[in-house]
Amino acid sequence: MSIPIQPKIWHEYDEKRRQAESDAAFRRMEVYQKIPRIREIDQALEQTGISAVRAYLQSPEKSKEELLLELKKNNQKLRNEKKELLLEAQIPENYADPVYQCPYCKDTGFVDGKRCRCLVQRLIDDAYEASGIREELMRNNFQTFNIGLFSRNVLEGQKVSPRKNMANVSKMAYAFAEQFPNNEPHSMIFYGGPGTGKTFLCDCIAKMILDRGFTVLYLTANQLCSAMEEYRFHRNAEMQDKAQLIHDQISEVDLLIIDDLGSEYLNQVTAADLFECFNQRILKNKATLVSTNLEPERLRSLYMDRLYSRFKGYYQFVPFFGPDLRTINR
Ligand SMILES: [Zn+2]
Repeated sequence: MSIPIQPKIWHEYDEKRRQAESDAAFRRMEVYQKIPRIREIDQALEQTGISAVRAYLQSPEKSKEELLLELKKNNQKLRNEKKELLLEAQIPENYADPVYQCPYCKDTGFVDGKRCRCLVQRLIDDAYEASGIREELMRNNFQTFNIGLFSRNVLEGQKVSPRKNMANVSKMAYAFAEQFPNNEPHSMIFYGGPGTGKTFLCDCIAKMILDRGFTVLYLTANQLCSAMEEYRFHRNAEMQDKAQLIHDQISEVDLLIIDDLGSEYLNQVTAADLFECFNQRILKNKATLVSTNLEPERLRSLYMDRLYSRFKGYYQFVPFFGPDLRTINR
């Protein structure tokens, strides 16, 4: 079962389509103004049917095949002429095709009767509009990433400086997003103290993968557990659609990001929900990104063995360390 689509989202899609089509019509008019001959050619090509009838009436002695062949030749000549005029003016041949925001569904929201990934992402964004994820991704992305923020001093007990570590990790994160969904490692756990750049790099990856047209669901562990509880108990009617969406997308979305694992209120039920979520992702061979302040040893003792062994088997553990940047930069 999937959640209903609000009328405002239908309007948005109608509007996007209309805009793409009117922009295309506008480009066509501009070209006509610049090169009036192209308008004549387009008109002549459009009237091929009428021309055929006229030619037939004017020269009844010719056979139908002969007339059609002539017409075909003439059309080809017109098309060639148009091609050359466009080439000369350096205008691309497809200038009058509508440019849709989503090339897959041509801004209809559907491909082969199924919801297009752009529509799924739109529904996710709608559910999270209030959380400001989109704005956050405008600030936190690979373009705004600044390695200079990380200390060059090697801390006691570490082999490399936070900066060197971050240089490696960010390279890995970039490759992850660039090669997605054929990325190796397929899933990662970013672990380390607060303010060491974990969430920032999750944001960078999310932004790039969204820009590449994949769907991303970004949740804190706490949001995930509350949504599952809501889905099960139906306590709050207003939350139902959102809970349903999260429940459906946990195993469907291209990339799931669980931020701050360990911040949720852990009990037997939430532990089972978390296991179910991570296990589903593995079974469906879907990539997942986790960030946590907990060291691997702490994860092992906190979560059930079977969850930890999934992490061990399917996730790459990526360490983050260094001073808390959030307190330093304030
Ligand atoms: Zn689409």
